[in-house]
This record gives sequence, C-alpha cells and structure tokens, in this order.
Amino acid sequence: MVRPFEGNFTQQEAIGDIAIAAAVEVLQSGRLHRYNTIAGQLSQAAMLEQEYATYQNSKYCLACASGGYAMNIALRAAGLEPGEPVLTNSFTLAPVPGAIVGAGGKPVFVEITKNLVIDLDDLAAKFKSTAARFLLLSHMRGHVVDMDRLMAIVDANDAILIEDCAHTMGAKWQNRNSGNFGLAACFSTQTYKHLNSGEGGFVTSNDPAFMARAIILSGSYMLYEKHGAAPDPSAFADIRLQTPNCSGRMDNLRAAILRPQLVDLEHNIERWNKRYGIIEKRLSELNTVQLPVRPKEESYVGSSIQFLIPGISGETARHFIDANQKLGVELKWFGSDEPVAFTSNHSSWRYIEAQNLPRTDAILSSLFDIRIPLTFSLQDCEHIGEIIAACVQELSPDGECQ
Ligand SMILES: *Cc1c(COP(=O)(O)O)cnc(C)c1O
Repeated sequence: MVRPFEGNFTQQEAIGDIAIAAAVEVLQSGRLHRYNTIAGQLSQAAMLEQEYATYQNSKYCLACASGGYAMNIALRAAGLEPGEPVLTNSFTLAPVPGAIVGAGGKPVFVEITKNLVIDLDDLAAKFKSTAARFLLLSHMRGHVVDMDRLMAIVDANDAILIEDCAHTMGAKWQNRNSGNFGLAACFSTQTYKHLNSGEGGFVTSNDPAFMARAIILSGSYMLYEKHGAAPDPSAFADIRLQTPNCSGRMDNLRAAILRPQLVDLEHNIERWNKRYGIIEKRLSELNTVQLPVRPKEESYVGSSIQFLIPGISGETARHFIDANQKLGVELKWFGSDEPVAFTSNHSSWRYIEAQNLPRTDAILSSLFDIRIPLTFSLQDCEHIGEIIAACVQELSPDGECQ
C-alpha cells in the first residue's frame, strides 16, 4: 500500500527576502499609487513594465490589476464592438469568457483536441460561420498549439489574435515567446501563476495605438508619460480624449514584489519542468493513461500536468478522484456537471448562449489536472506519480472501477 502524500497542492513558495525588503521600502515611502512619484523618479510599476517588456521581447508592456482585466481591456483596445463574436477555446478558465462578455463581446467556443489545444479545423470553420474578427486564444494549462498553422488561419481570415498567456509566461513556440504572435498578449500574476503578487496582470504589444488605448483604459488619467514601456506621447494625442478611464492599475507594492521574482523566473521554469518530467514519466508507464503529446517546437512551463483516462465514466471518475484524495493527491476534473472551486466548463457559463461542443465534452469528462507548486520536492513528485499509478491500477482496463 502506497503511503499518503502530505504536501499541499495550493502552497506556493514564500515571497523571497529581496521582494519583502522591496515591499517594505514601498510601504515606508507611503507612495503606493503608481503615479505618486517625485520628479524624475520611475515608479516600481513603471520599472516592472520595462523589465517585463524586456523579458517578453515586446516593445510595450502595461501592468494592471489582473489577468482577467488585462484581457478585458485588450479586447476593447483592439476595437471590439458591442455584440461582436469572439472565438476562444472551449477548454479555458472562467475569466476568459468573463472578459469577453465584460468587454461587450459574445464568446464563441472552439473545440479542442486530445492534446488540449484549440482544434484548428473547427477554428477555421468557425471563422467562416461567424465572420468573427477576433480570436482570444487561451494557452490553457500551458499547451501551445501549432502557432504556424494557427497564424495562417488567423491571417487568412484577416482576424486579430490576442493571446491569453496566463499559463505560458516563459513558454515558447520555435524560439518565439508565447504572447508574441498576435496583436497583444495578456498575462496574470495571480498567486497560482508563474509570478505571484496575489492579483495582477500584464498586457504586452508592439502596436503603439493599441497600447495607448490600453494604457488610458487601465486608468492612467493624463499621467501616461509616467509609464515604463509605453509608446511615444504622440501616440496618445487623440486617444487620450477618445478612450474611457476604467481604473484597473497595478500598484507599486505588487510591482515591487514582482520585480525580484521576474529575475528568478527562468530558473523557476527549470525547477517546474524537472518536477513535471518526473510525474510525466511515471504516468507515461500506465497503459490506461493518455498524456497530451507535446510537439518538439513547444517549450513549455510545467507548472501543472494533465492526463486523460479515455472512456472513463462520470461515476468512475469520481471514485478515482476520491481514491487519489484519500492518499493526499488533489486532482481537478473538468468533466463535472457542477463547477467546483476554480474549475468550471462551458456548460456552467449560462450567461452565454448554450453551445454544442461534443468533442470538448468527451475530452473534458476524461481529463484530470494537477497543480505542481514549487514547494514540492522532486521526491514529492515521484510520490505523487506513485499514488496516481496505484489509483489507476485499481481501474479495470476499460477505465471502470473493479
Ligand atoms: C488565471 C487565468 C487567467 C487570468 O486570471 P486572473 O485571476 O484574472 O489574473 C486567464 N486565463 C486563464 C486560462 C487563467 O488560468
């Protein structure tokens, strides 16, 4: 009998000493608002924008209140009109349809494949059937679709791509950073993502007019010249008067704790991928388990891992989750009829017209998902792999409970 795992799947690493010292300094200064600077001083938020733009290799970066907010203003800054369809993958997290609806759009879900990426044939078909101008591509759980094929479809439809990189901060397709393919990309620095400020987000882009609109939307008043990675003030000449101010700024306290974390990001990606590799290897030895195939062009960040048990019934899936839970392994399941915690699917987003997504539903009902916080040691990951393997072995070959 395998012994239970005692680690905690929601326990991220502590904020480091350098970040804590930086936070204390901001608190002592009293200047928490990003525009509350003295002459000639660049705020923590502005410096973070410069540093993130450099890391991302994008011209411009806006730091803001959350990833969901970043997507909302990115859609608006990209020119979304009320009631317009926005294509997005059917496997995503609630803030994505929320941002589309919040920006006045109508989410149209595109099927996914068993490799957990957007189904490019369905994407091409839905561009035709909806005449959508926008794709908000969610790189859900860090799985990057064939970006060459995707861009060919986007370009053939004269569409605008916005990437949701909440799980692909630090990931690449063929040496190009995830987020640098479309008009703009959105990132999250919420606690469970790759940088942790509790809440927070970025919008990146190389387009000056887009970024000028995003900055004004974020609540910059007429202080946009205090930004760190913004277009030239001339880009704001008309936009500053034509764009509503919808406050959702990042403050200096969060920025101060993010800057030192950004320095550690590449190292942390290696640490995540080591942990991912250990669990992946153990799961790959199990016949009933199917792992998403990750193409060689993809460099991913293994901050979570997903696997499928094709054909598993709802009842067996619940047994399987309980068996893992009893041994301390917390699996998330996107196949539940009832949304649970962070996990919900298109059938529970009832503010949107119901959509028929049979392939997605079949995949989600057999899909299990685990977080891999960096507080887990390599031994912990081996242990987790053993527990899942033991629970899988309790299932009969057709995925049913024995
Ligand atoms: C977390 C997340 C976001 C943004 O989340 P916020 O909590 O608003 O920062 C967007 N997309 C996906 C897929 C996410 O997981």
